[in-house]
Amino acid sequence: MIKKVIYPGTFDPLTNGHLDIIQRSAAMFDHVVVGIAASPSKNTMFTLDERVALAGQATQHLSNVSVQGFSGLLIDFVKQEKVDILIRGLRTTIDFEYEFGLTNMYRRFAPKLESIFLTPTEEYMFLSSSIVREVAIHGGEISEFVPPAVAKAIAQKVKS
Ligand code: ADP
Repeated sequence: MIKKVIYPGTFDPLTNGHLDIIQRSAAMFDHVVVGIAASPSKNTMFTLDERVALAGQATQHLSNVSVQGFSGLLIDFVKQEKVDILIRGLRTTIDFEYEFGLTNMYRRFAPKLESIFLTPTEEYMFLSSSIVREVAIHGGEISEFVPPAVAKAIAQKVKS
């Protein structure tokens, strides 16, 4: 039986922390779908299409990883993909509180859905898309925190 999992998020944009979790998942499961939420309420820096393209470029080297955008509820996307395992990244206890709440909510709608939490390598423990965006907007160097294609795309966004 092929074990397919979904790693969902907004990925605005994908960072090396996300990539770390994707690589760990890809080593554990047959197929990993990076599910990129439209998240219209989040007022994202990158459009859904841009976020999908950037994540696709960053994961090109991983043959069992695919990237898909979705709008609407994650639970519906999970059902559509016929997946019963979600991957989430855990950094600090702040993530834990938030993720714990989400997991309980998901269970109400999809009782068989399990969430697996993975932690990144120590150097990415405090890395987030929002910090990367903030640093870039103020002219800081972000190339050590994101894949090269993302660094280039942010530089272009900030310029425009
Ligand atoms: P969301 O909008 O769902 O919080 P994000 O795109 O910010 O989406 O993050 C997607 C997932 O990746 C979440 O589970 C989040 O906790 C995790 N994550 C974000 N940054 C990191 C990181 N540096 N290391 C590990 N996991 C991370």
